Amino acid sequence: MSMSSQIQIFKFGGASVKDATAVRNVASVLKSYAGKQTVLILSAMGKTTNALERIHQSYLSGSNKDAIQRIAELKNYHSSILDELFTDKNHIVFREFNQLFGELAKAIDEKPELSYDKSYDRLVHFGERIATTILNAYLQENGFETQHIEAGDFIATDNNYRDAYVDWDLTVNKISEGARSWFANEKPCIVITQGFIAKSAENAPITLGREGSDFSASIFAYSLNATEMVIWKDVPGVMNADPKLMPEAVTLEHISYREAVELAYYGASVIHPKTIKPLENKNIPLRVKSFLNPVGEGTLIDRVGTDDKKVASYIFKFNQVLLSLFPRDFSFINEKNISEIFSLFSRNNIKVRLMQNSAISFSVCFDYEPARLNVLLEDLSKLYSVRYNEQVELVTIRHYSGINSDSIISGRKILLEQKSRSTWQMILNKQ
Ligand code: ASP
Ligand code: MG
Repeated sequence: MSMSSQIQIFKFGGASVKDATAVRNVASVLKSYAGKQTVLILSAMGKTTNALERIHQSYLSGSNKDAIQRIAELKNYHSSILDELFTDKNHIVFREFNQLFGELAKAIDEKPELSYDKSYDRLVHFGERIATTILNAYLQENGFETQHIEAGDFIATDNNYRDAYVDWDLTVNKISEGARSWFANEKPCIVITQGFIAKSAENAPITLGREGSDFSASIFAYSLNATEMVIWKDVPGVMNADPKLMPEAVTLEHISYREAVELAYYGASVIHPKTIKPLENKNIPLRVKSFLNPVGEGTLIDRVGTDDKKVASYIFKFNQVLLSLFPRDFSFINEKNISEIFSLFSRNNIKVRLMQNSAISFSVCFDYEPARLNVLLEDLSKLYSVRYNEQVELVTIRHYSGINSDSIISGRKILLEQKSRSTWQMILNKQ
């Protein structure tokens, strides 16, 4: 790879390959970008990751019959896409496909790992591998020059299953080494790999956290000094609210990395929060565009950002827990308690979305996940008396000055509220 080579990074999410028509559409989007060296990061097809999570649940609860049944359903779903895309039933893709499902079936024959998260990654990572196998074969069949690589051979992490931390030095080395051969000849080539998955320090499959494919793409962008990264989605770009919740939502044309990180951090589901930092560090522009309207401008995210304060953005997080802790002996909440509390959150892999303390209480808001919550409660109640509300809603409004919030609050109770100059957050009880 010469230093002057121009590499673009494309990320296609699960919705972009949810059925055969969608896969064909990806190929047509790629046609209009032919002629550039490309690394394409792909997510699992449609709702595959959710299906694999359920398979993992059945497997762990010992009901292998149910797991086998669900694997069969997942295989059927993919088979029908394959059948529609490939008329030649002797195509090698069928063999590769059966082999992957064979591996998955074998994985549930083995005893579960001691760690929940590790066993989760062992099963759930298959979704992306199945997806890239199908897309790669389809693109090759349709005249694209491609190379199919395993993300696990290039993204190296620690052993923090389900939320892996990237070993950057090793990863950058592996990817730049790889690129020397992927792009060895000047002929444009599409390198296809999986989002979301990597290899742990102990060499097992690991994942970067749900919706982590965006982050995978930016790991490749960073490592290759890409000229641009594009996240292809089924929405026109980064919007100032979820249009399903606010029909009047608009697309933001041009925001800064900083604004994008803030939006992602507060839970706008448009980009995975870890995606921006690697891009910002190398000043690589990010576009979020619609694969349904590839000529649309979408949203540009870079250092400039001209829309940051133009419109208010709204982020709604449902199914949250608001938990309050009170030291049993009426002692103050101090640095020591707080660090103790946070180490428990970190040990249980719980991400805090908002926190507030008073002299003798400490409140935090996070996503409701029964299994994690129960373990946490057990730990916390040894030290504190604990009160919590389930199913509350967290609303975050960026650049809120001048907005009318009546319809958002609409008769509900604000359980907790925080305002900075640019961000207003409130926790509301159920309607
Ligand atoms: N397939 C994974 C998920 O659904 C990763 C991703 O889509 O980014 O969470
Ligand atoms: Mg996805």
